Amino acid sequence: VVPIRFGPAGERRKPDATLLVLRDLTQQRRVEQMRVDFIANASHELRTPLASLSGFIETLQGPARNDTPARERFLKIMGEQARRMSRLIDDLLSLSRIEMTAHMRPEAEVDLVAVVNHVRDALAPLALERGVAIAFVPPAGPVMARGDRDELIRVFENLVENALKYGGAGEEVTVTLVRDGGEAIVGVRDYGPGIAPEHLPRLTERFYRVDTAHSREQGGTGLGLAIVKHIVARHRGRLVIESRPGEGATFSVRLSARFPKDEKTEVSSAA
Ligand code: ADP
Repeated sequence: VVPIRFGPAGERRKPDATLLVLRDLTQQRRVEQMRVDFIANASHELRTPLASLSGFIETLQGPARNDTPARERFLKIMGEQARRMSRLIDDLLSLSRIEMTAHMRPEAEVDLVAVVNHVRDALAPLALERGVAIAFVPPAGPVMARGDRDELIRVFENLVENALKYGGAGEEVTVTLVRDGGEAIVGVRDYGPGIAPEHLPRLTERFYRVDTAHSREQGGTGLGLAIVKHIVARHRGRLVIESRPGEGATFSVRLSARFPKDEKTEVSSAA
């Protein structure tokens, strides 16, 4: 509280007005705590593969020096750990880049049908490996959203990849693209074990995983859905997660879009 005095300098009298300065310290502390937690988590995530690499290097220099089969096995694991660190660093950099540009809405016109087709092709090898079919019946014409093509590819690659990784082997992954007024809804559905309700609100937090060991086994960094959330927000869209244990999960992204083919049909049917 800052008392404001008016009148000649030095004159002792009661303040005529009081300026009350309020700052939301709770919010400030929460942001600060999140930053500290994030750095602690990121360091821990990077230190885990690094510790494993150091352990293998020592073993290779000592006990396993002349054991060729063991050496081959260890080198393979070391390669996987190095790739994991590099994925994590890539994801951390992506996240910070997206956050830095959160206020700038990407402006290019992107066809969501082409984006989904691209994602399906890119993930075909993983789908084959898992014995899962990615089903996508595209709409009759293009669906144009304003955005950044690479970022939108990233969103749907993450969602389809998660559906393949966590959706259970042998089941299908279905991608739908439908119109709802002036919006397009892209849904990625799997028929896997689903997600318990208590986890749903926290899934998009950085490094939040339902089962950390399983996520690591699948090569996950724990940052995928945080990246998805930020990209969707930057596109002024909405991410909705629906799931019930035992009944799979659906991740839907709503984006405002244009439907040029429908417009043409509307015009020609009006004529
Ligand atoms: P990760 O790199 O661990 O996959 P994500 O941020 O992409 O990180 O996902 C966070 C967590 O959400 C995952 O570790 C997993 O536990 C859970 N999850 C994501 N997608 C699905 C899904 N389709 N079915 C079940 N669980 C999922």
